[in-house]
Amino acid sequence: MSDQIIISLLIGGFIINLTTMILVIILLKKIKGKIIENVENGVAQIAGTNETKDSAVLGVVFCRNCGQQYDSLKTVCPHCKTPR
Ligand SMILES: [Zn+2]
Repeated sequence: MSDQIIISLLIGGFIINLTTMILVIILLKKIKGKIIENVENGVAQIAGTNETKDSAVLGVVFCRNCGQQYDSLKTVCPHCKTPR
């Protein structure tokens, strides 16, 4: 009788281990998916901020004298040297 109890306990422990392993694998897959989503969102956010920064830095202005477009970083028009 004692052998049967030990065997049943061993089988029960094995089943519990298997179920916990499966649960852990499922949870890890879910967490990995969430991490990938977060990374993708973060990349998208970084790209968005970079785009806005670039547009702010690389802005263009129109010369009030000749009407040509030039870099907003420049203080004078490269075409007619008129200050903005
Ligand atoms: Zn100009």
